[in-house]
Amino acid sequence: MSAEIVWPRGRVVIVGAGVAGLMTALELAPRPVAVLSKGPVGAESSTLWAQGGMAAALGANDSPAQHAADTMAAGDGLCDAAVVDRFARAAPAAIEKLARFGARFDRTNEGGFALGLEAAHCRPRIVHATGDGAGRELMRALIAAARATPSIEILERFEARRIVVEDNSVRGVLTVGPGGPVLFATDKAVIASGGIGGLFEESTNPLGSFGQGLALAARAGAALGDMEFVQFHPTALDVAARPTPLVSEAVRGEGAILIDETGDQFMRDVPGQELAPRDVVARAIWRRRARGRRVFLDARAAIGTHFETRFPIIWAACCAAGLDPAREPIPVRPSQHYHMGGIAVEGEGQSSVAGLWACGEAAFTRLHGANRLASNSLSEAAVFGAIVARSIEGAPTRALKRLSAFPAPPPSDPSVVRPILSRAAGVMRDGETLRAAIGPLASLARSSPSAADPAAVALMIVVAALARDHSVGAHCRLDFPERPAAPRRSRMTLDEAFAAAAAIASDPLASRA
Ligand SMILES: Cc1cc2nc3c(=O)[nH]c(=O)nc-3n(C[C@H](O)[C@H](O)[C@H](O)COP(=O)(O)OP(=O)(O)OC[C@H]3O[C@@H](n4cnc5c(N)ncnc54)[C@H](O)[C@@H]3O)c2cc1C
Repeated sequence: MSAEIVWPRGRVVIVGAGVAGLMTALELAPRPVAVLSKGPVGAESSTLWAQGGMAAALGANDSPAQHAADTMAAGDGLCDAAVVDRFARAAPAAIEKLARFGARFDRTNEGGFALGLEAAHCRPRIVHATGDGAGRELMRALIAAARATPSIEILERFEARRIVVEDNSVRGVLTVGPGGPVLFATDKAVIASGGIGGLFEESTNPLGSFGQGLALAARAGAALGDMEFVQFHPTALDVAARPTPLVSEAVRGEGAILIDETGDQFMRDVPGQELAPRDVVARAIWRRRARGRRVFLDARAAIGTHFETRFPIIWAACCAAGLDPAREPIPVRPSQHYHMGGIAVEGEGQSSVAGLWACGEAAFTRLHGANRLASNSLSEAAVFGAIVARSIEGAPTRALKRLSAFPAPPPSDPSVVRPILSRAAGVMRDGETLRAAIGPLASLARSSPSAADPAAVALMIVVAALARDHSVGAHCRLDFPERPAAPRRSRMTLDEAFAAAAAIASDPLASRA
């Protein structure tokens, strides 16, 4: 069926209604925007599930410089210092703005923000809400604020299937809504579509987060960056549920320790111990489990009977699995959690396609480097949502061209991609397994009706991971364990990924993207 064409004069189309999409929309007010949410607003959004909170230097003994230093250290040499500095300075004001939008963060008796400590932060600087319900509170407040803003139209159950591009410029966004295909003519679109966890067999993300926005940008010709940097959260609950329930870093921040089934506190001799950066802890747990051990998070002594009130969401997940964290250690294992790479954007959130911006987890801003610092993601989305809005305000308006209707691609199904990507691009990688994934992914990306877009994103991850023949941050190669003195960033278009895949098919030793 061909699409109905809508001409929303001057309207910006935002793909995604998590913290990034809604903040951009609110910051653009009173400029008219259409916010697309492929499900009911809030559903299928990682923001809703965020537990720990938002990082910002708000404490009396803290500073943006210290927040920036911790971000740089976790990023393992691949953060962009100027981006980090700008972010750390802007984060406190972004939190204050969210509070003005109505977010009720936990407060001290004196009325200041109650600040938690998380892994690899040198100061308590995590603003939280209802204990471990930061995301739920944030979405409640942002949805209410957006619904109360006349310039924002939230279109629920509208899924973006293609960005229409001519001469490397955005011309429209092709969607499928409840009544069928609709093509929004616009010269300005923002991708705020969240993460990629749904491309993996085990992830903490909603199943619907499978990198659709990355595929939209890649098919539109945009460059993507640092695709190989995938963060695995060390402590997902080790139960059969999918997605894997998360046991936030904040639990370790309050003193819970990691042990194996013999009671050995195996992080004792690692610098930073339980609060080392995520990649370090995830690898330590992966190695224990590879030796046939089970790993547990023991919160009995540090939190004990306070667990239920301090971490009500995690407590409920434990109870659903028949566990009582006040009385027994919680079984945990690493699970895909976050994507540091994404749509490559310049300082103001602009991609390599004119009229296409990106923010939130879908964007590669160069903030996180090779490993995201805990609780920097929600803050990044809030800060860069505002930056993108200002950039759009300053961008010229281009005359909308005549568009011809064309059929929408079918809905995507990532299920065949999951086992291939999970085997190749897990906590530990090696050249042979990565190389073996490239042929099947390239073939799916070229010709599968329903798996083409998920496979295209997975192909870009695997090609970039194969080309990175060293270990740095979250990217750990068993065959190349050395860390280079000066790691480089990676960047590629989908055509370049296909070309690299073809080169590898004809010469299995070729790997450079
Ligand atoms: C369990 C869990 C706990 C976390 N805890 C924290 C934390 O404490 N602190 C922190 O900083 N970060 C945390 N994170 C990470 C953080 O939540 C995410 O990185 C962040 O919320 C991403 O926000 P976003 O707006 O970019 O994407 P999302 O919130 O995922 O929103 C994406 C939106 O895009 C929509 N969408 C996707 N594709 C399409 C399409 N094709 N058409 C239309 N709509 C589409 C989705 O439906 C959704 O509305 C956590 C993540 C998880 C999963």
